[in-house]
Amino acid sequence: MTVDALAGAAYIAAALLFILSLAGLSRHESARAGVVYGIVGMTIALGATLALTVADAWGGSGATLGLSLLAVGVLVGAAIGLWRAKVVKMTEMPQLIALLHSFVGLAAVLVGWNGHLSHASIPAELVDIHNAEVFIGIFIGGVTFTGSIVAYLKLSARVSSRPLVLPGKNLLNVGALVAFVVLTVWFVLDQQLWLLVAVTLLSFALGWHLVASIGGGDMPVVVSMLNSYSGWAAAAAGFLLNNDLLIVTGALVGSSGAYLSYIMCKAMNRSFLSVIAGGFGITASASDDVDHGEHRELNAEAAAGLLSQAQSVVITPGYGMAVAQAQYPVADLVAKLRERGVDVRFGIHPVAGRLPGHMNVLLAEAKVPYDIVLGMDEINDDLASTSVVLVIGANDTVNPAAAEDPGSPIAGMPVLRVWEAENVIVFKRSMAPGYAGVQNPLFFRENAQMLFGDAKERVEDIIRAL
Ligand code: NDP
Repeated sequence: MTVDALAGAAYIAAALLFILSLAGLSRHESARAGVVYGIVGMTIALGATLALTVADAWGGSGATLGLSLLAVGVLVGAAIGLWRAKVVKMTEMPQLIALLHSFVGLAAVLVGWNGHLSHASIPAELVDIHNAEVFIGIFIGGVTFTGSIVAYLKLSARVSSRPLVLPGKNLLNVGALVAFVVLTVWFVLDQQLWLLVAVTLLSFALGWHLVASIGGGDMPVVVSMLNSYSGWAAAAAGFLLNNDLLIVTGALVGSSGAYLSYIMCKAMNRSFLSVIAGGFGITASASDDVDHGEHRELNAEAAAGLLSQAQSVVITPGYGMAVAQAQYPVADLVAKLRERGVDVRFGIHPVAGRLPGHMNVLLAEAKVPYDIVLGMDEINDDLASTSVVLVIGANDTVNPAAAEDPGSPIAGMPVLRVWEAENVIVFKRSMAPGYAGVQNPLFFRENAQMLFGDAKERVEDIIRAL
């Protein structure tokens, strides 16, 4: 059997393992198996690709140099990847993922350029298709590359998460798409190098603008959308490299990312088209200078007092619980209250934290029983009859402005209606707004009190006072 045939078989096995991996990852009971399928699939794919590359290059001119460079690249890349994966904090995962998407985008751009410059022998009847593939691959890759970089900068708070609202921004996006179509046709008819330079710059500018135009509250959708784009970029590179596995894998990532973006948009009551079109239809929001009145504060002892008299408690955690790593004392507090006969449950917003499922992972880590961890829709109707809600490091996800103020940048996003409870205790360090940069009127409600300080320390103080 030839190396080609063996590699083809290995690619089919790897593609099937990737499908099994995605299926496994969709439920937490089978997630571990899903990860293992993914690792085995990727190992087979890498092994087959290496074998193909070595077999192709062996004995050819410059083979030793080419293969040595490849080996050095793979080893250095793997070492950096292993190191980053080991040191990254859970709260920094989204920006790391965004950065990794940018590499996929850049790779697709480079593959596209190489596809044009390498002058590989292409059958005459396929030349036009090849040229279109080059162009489309560079375009999708370029948009993914700069879009992911902006997402990385926003998620790591290196730039503001507010949406950039340029005059005529929708027209700019539509204009860029029209220009892309025109340039593609031009390039298929006449392969001038400046056209490739133009489409590369155009795609970089469009990717930058698309993601810069999207506000903080919609960033979760952007992360999964870029995931989808990176899949399509990989698939485009697969066509150019004539690699079936890359096409299949890219299509899997592209379509599952698009579907996840769609589900998230539905969960957040956002228009899918508006988000993928770079905040199409979003205009600059009114400035947030409303006087909300005075907030009230309480200390850990008073919070312990309220909790010891409560019949039911709901905890709504958010990004701040992850930052403070407060999940362990929170789990202890829950155990203590349950021992006293208090009914304690968690209410998890679909985009609480910085990754879908972020809170569920933290609570599972701290061994909080699954059956008391409920989703937003399961708990929302019970909040009005709850004695005390503990908002631990959450902000946007419990903001009444989303439900009550049509002019708010997060208007229409479903939120946990914690303000309906008898008492609300908000754990945070200051009066600073949440990720979407919007002030939260909850903090000024009659039934709400602020417990300032690091969430972990404050929860430990409450446990001591109890
Ligand atoms: P927010 O970012 O709205 O609020 C987090 C709050 O935690 C802040 O108000 C902050 O206030 C507080 N905080 C930070 N550190 C600490 C600490 N050590 N102790 C106590 N409090 C702390 O979080 P939410 O989870 O409510 O909302 C998630 C937001 O992130 C949404 O806007 C969502 O759209 C966005 N997002 C979500 C993604 C996802 O997939 N889940 C991905 C990308 C963005 P202070 O500084 O005063 O302490």
